[in-house]
Amino acid sequence: MTRVAVASTILAMTLSGCGQDADPEPPDDDLAIAHSEPREDSVYPEAGDPGVDSLHYDLTLDWAPVTRTLTGSQELTFRATEDADHFQLDLGKTLEVSEATLDGDSVEVEHDGKDLVVRAPVTEDTEYVLTLDYAGTPAPVPAPTTRGDMSGLGLTTTPRDTLWTMQEPYGAYTWYAVNDQPSDKALYDFTVTAPSPLVGIANGELVSRTDEAGVTTTKWHLDSPASSYLTTLAVGDYVLTEDSSGDLPITYWLPRNRQWQLEDLRRTPRLLSWLEKRLGPYPFDSLGLVVVPSASAMETQTMITLGNTDYATGPDTIVHELAHQWYGDLVTPNDWRDLWMNEGMAMYLQGLWNDESTQCPGCSVEEWQWSEPGDRFESGPPGDYDPDEFGENNVYYGPALMWDAFRTLVGDDTFWRLTREWPQEQADHSTDRETWIAWLEEETGRDLDAFFDEWLMSPDSPVDS
Ligand SMILES: [Zn+2]
Repeated sequence: MTRVAVASTILAMTLSGCGQDADPEPPDDDLAIAHSEPREDSVYPEAGDPGVDSLHYDLTLDWAPVTRTLTGSQELTFRATEDADHFQLDLGKTLEVSEATLDGDSVEVEHDGKDLVVRAPVTEDTEYVLTLDYAGTPAPVPAPTTRGDMSGLGLTTTPRDTLWTMQEPYGAYTWYAVNDQPSDKALYDFTVTAPSPLVGIANGELVSRTDEAGVTTTKWHLDSPASSYLTTLAVGDYVLTEDSSGDLPITYWLPRNRQWQLEDLRRTPRLLSWLEKRLGPYPFDSLGLVVVPSASAMETQTMITLGNTDYATGPDTIVHELAHQWYGDLVTPNDWRDLWMNEGMAMYLQGLWNDESTQCPGCSVEEWQWSEPGDRFESGPPGDYDPDEFGENNVYYGPALMWDAFRTLVGDDTFWRLTREWPQEQADHSTDRETWIAWLEEETGRDLDAFFDEWLMSPDSPVDS
């Protein structure tokens, strides 16, 4: 996500192709790439089931604005991680399941609140296919934060009968049944139908688009494993503009009545080039940006979801969400206590870009030290934050300053080598701080425990000392 810098006090936040004739059938990916080690989240244990390792979600979604009904049909391929007589997914309580099968046989499900319990025995390390038919009017759920730009999580319907999502740290379950925790990555295919001129946007490459009998159907394929908070769905009267950066196709999806924001989005290739000089080549096959009626922005994998405010479509936000494609998407925290792993590096890169490009007040890395002690006091240390204050300033600016201090400690050459290599080292995985710090210690030959412990866990700000 992005955080907005406010000049007077510095801060707040910014949570920061489409060929008609591409392959009609998505490639048959090897699901081994989606094997994860799911765990119960230490900050938000109520979401997700560590007994499920989801491998591939095939989602067919129809949006009927007149009745405000989302009708879903999904096929989930998953691996059971333990022997059990049942397993569980998350699904919004406003969505009602009409039919469920496991490997072709009908199964009983209990849907209490958001907990969808499937009563069927499963065997450790065995793959299954669960199908579900469901329908209802989607509703967002409360966000565990006081942030002003996050009123709810999940799929939001607008007065114009369009749809959009923001769902960090959870909330994908407001539109499909999902193991909604960051430690479980999976591949995705989406088929979205809506009455024309509405069109559905999701992650990955647009495989096909048809407009027939007043219905627009889009098919999307994501061939890199993604955590559920990094999926996106937007349905609206969108106009597509195609762009590119080298061989990388880039798509911009702007509402028909907001085409004047296209010039903001067209900065993307330039900002991406700036990042690629530091982080190496962009890690995925496609890139898109979709603009939705929000004040926030999310680094949704390969299809970035931007709010429609000037800040959310501005270069700070775009460079921040692009940086997350390496830090957050390619390598992902496996537990929400490590949100700083995403936001620290994205914020640091955003700050460096500002230092080189804009010199705007409050945007410079050096200036952030003045607010860091207060952020830490307000919301807790970055590595041990208050669960009711998700995504506050403390996980952005302190960890950004930490990387600046680390850069001073090890020198520019080593810092940039390690910053480039880490996402490749852990590509397509979710991991934790211990693994990252151990790797940094091995690469630098230094004992770094005290350094990271002070920055991540101390109630006292290192910038005070
Ligand atoms: Zn962010």
